[in-house]
Amino acid sequence: MAPFGDVLDELAAAGISADFDHYPVRALQVFDPAGRVYPCRSTVPLLYLVRRGASAACLDRGLSDLAIAAAVDIHYAVEAPPCIRGILAGGSRGGNIVAVGHVFETDSPDGIYAVVNDNLAPKGYAYLLIVAGQGTVASCLFSDFANSHTCLERSVAFFQMHVGFTMQTPRRLGGAGNYAFPVQARAGELLAVGEAAGFQDPLFGFGIRYVMRSGVLAAALLAGEPDRYAQDWRSRLGGDFRVGVVNRYAYERLGNLAYGGILRTVAAVSDVRFVAV
Ligand SMILES: Cc1cc2nc3c(=O)[nH]c(=O)nc-3n(C[C@H](O)[C@H](O)[C@H](O)COP(=O)(O)OP(=O)(O)OC[C@H]3O[C@@H](n4cnc5c(N)ncnc54)[C@H](O)[C@@H]3O)c2cc1C
Repeated sequence: MAPFGDVLDELAAAGISADFDHYPVRALQVFDPAGRVYPCRSTVPLLYLVRRGASAACLDRGLSDLAIAAAVDIHYAVEAPPCIRGILAGGSRGGNIVAVGHVFETDSPDGIYAVVNDNLAPKGYAYLLIVAGQGTVASCLFSDFANSHTCLERSVAFFQMHVGFTMQTPRRLGGAGNYAFPVQARAGELLAVGEAAGFQDPLFGFGIRYVMRSGVLAAALLAGEPDRYAQDWRSRLGGDFRVGVVNRYAYERLGNLAYGGILRTVAAVSDVRFVAV
């Protein structure tokens, strides 16, 4: 399967400039449940770290400033009547993924780490990100949500033991995610994008690219051909979503005894985007 291209190129092709802080990541260290570490790398950025929220240089702020400059009306915290033509981007309505964590300041060195271990993040993963004195540690769970806070405590302890890091002024972060193949992705005249429609990667809960892709698609069709939206999202997003569902089905059947073997395969290739397991 061809890997995804660089997301910044995709945004540029849609006329969207990256007016927000973004930090390319080409390598990360992934731990198995036994604490063995597997370096995973890529020749091009595997991902970009961004900050979320309304503050300057955050992803959300950068995109909303561009939208406002393009004369888009954004209505926050209102239920838009479905007879108004527009885009519904209200996010998740609850879901099948829960993420809990801390953001913090630190004097520890930069590093990008993840761990797959059902005791720390059942059927998901936990991660520690440190860049330029800013850190995030989180557990992303796909089951056993009632134990999310215990999982977070265990994840912090795991990274303290295997990486070692300091955590100053920690603030809690958290949220729920929703993936579900939409029936229509539409509510009356409103075209639903991102998690409001159920678009999110079923394997690991990555939804930012899905919301950008569905948003660009909906925006292009809104004025002229809104009825084409259902057909277009199915052809442009449906294939990746189905692959994600199959990957999630397979991942659910793995467990702590199998994660290490998968990671060995992933770490053996020079570019993890081309791995086939
Ligand atoms: C802790 C955490 C970590 C994550 N990490 C990643 C990651 O590393 N990579 C990745 O790709 N994805 C990640 N995700 C998932 C990603 O954040 C979402 O899939 C993505 O933000 C969905 O975008 P969205 O615009 O659909 O919804 P959101 O980003 O949730 O935005 C929806 C906005 O609409 C607002 N809203 C809700 N209801 C209304 C209403 N009635 N009227 C007006 N406004 C309303 C909400 O307040 C919110 O600000 C993470 C999620 C969480 C919770």
